[in-house]
Amino acid sequence: MSDSVLIRGASRFIKRKAGKLLATGILALLPVILFIPLFFLIPFLDTDDKEILPGRGAGGAAFVVAGEIAFQEITPQFIINWLQRRDSALATMEFANACIKAGRRYNVNPLLLVAITGQEQSFCPAGSPAAMLRNPWNTFGSWQNTDHPVEKSAMYAAECIARLSGGRPEGFHPVAWLNSTDNKGGMYATDPNWWKGVSAFFRELRTDHGDPPPLISGKFIFPIQTGYFISSSFGEMRSTGPHTGVDFACPLGTPIYAMADGVISGLVQGDPIGGNEVFVSGTDGRTYAYLHCSHFAAVQVGQAVKAGDIIAYVGSTGRSTGPHLHLGVKENGRWIDGLKLLK
Ligand SMILES: [Zn+2]
Repeated sequence: MSDSVLIRGASRFIKRKAGKLLATGILALLPVILFIPLFFLIPFLDTDDKEILPGRGAGGAAFVVAGEIAFQEITPQFIINWLQRRDSALATMEFANACIKAGRRYNVNPLLLVAITGQEQSFCPAGSPAAMLRNPWNTFGSWQNTDHPVEKSAMYAAECIARLSGGRPEGFHPVAWLNSTDNKGGMYATDPNWWKGVSAFFRELRTDHGDPPPLISGKFIFPIQTGYFISSSFGEMRSTGPHTGVDFACPLGTPIYAMADGVISGLVQGDPIGGNEVFVSGTDGRTYAYLHCSHFAAVQVGQAVKAGDIIAYVGSTGRSTGPHLHLGVKENGRWIDGLKLLK
């Protein structure tokens, strides 16, 4: 056998071997190739605490989360007790710890995570499907399409909130921003009223926790900080004409906060329509009317008030069928929708 034959034989052998190796290699890589799209969908679902600092993304950059919705220490027992009172199947140590752990990691208030489950799934009443309990935030599209442990779903929801919090214009309601079409990061939910439900539950949770109400930053403050619902919106047609304000239905005696800075310009007792009324002449030139109050706080005409000061308490005085605040905002002599300012 000449040298050249030997070399040719060797090269044939190597080619055969290389072909086999290549085939085995492709087969071995196949699962990896198939799973690549999944990595794009869930790029941050590693739960190794050592790698990511609290309140920071995988790259180490701090998330900018508004103070009103940022992390606060909550005991699991508070969350469990609160949910138990609502007959919620989420009233478990596992769920409470998932909210707290994810909240700490992404600098998001655990009570906001609880509040979102109220808006998305009515706090999962007893008898809810197990898959819903593992993803009550409806992230990953929807709970029907996914099957992650509740800890991972909580991480995903908290990270979504932390990411969406970025780029918020000054004074923009921090929860409304997560739901805004102007948010370049996307939207948590497409329902334009999502943030209102979440905010109402969040305020209720904070109040029950004994925290000061989350006075939302910026020029305007929600005049009602605890649980309420809008019983009549601005412009709604009535026998007397279109509704000139927004009605916040809530329990008798709920504090009413000045919505904006200004000076108390009128305190009217027992008007046949508005009942006990507070008028504030805003520093922004608008007039703010708070009607149907049960009684006034310690305020006087001429006194300066800041947004967030308690000015009166909810009642049902004047022409009213139940306890509520009628909020009227007048701009250039015309009543406008006060809720639009609160967005
Ligand atoms: Zn009204």
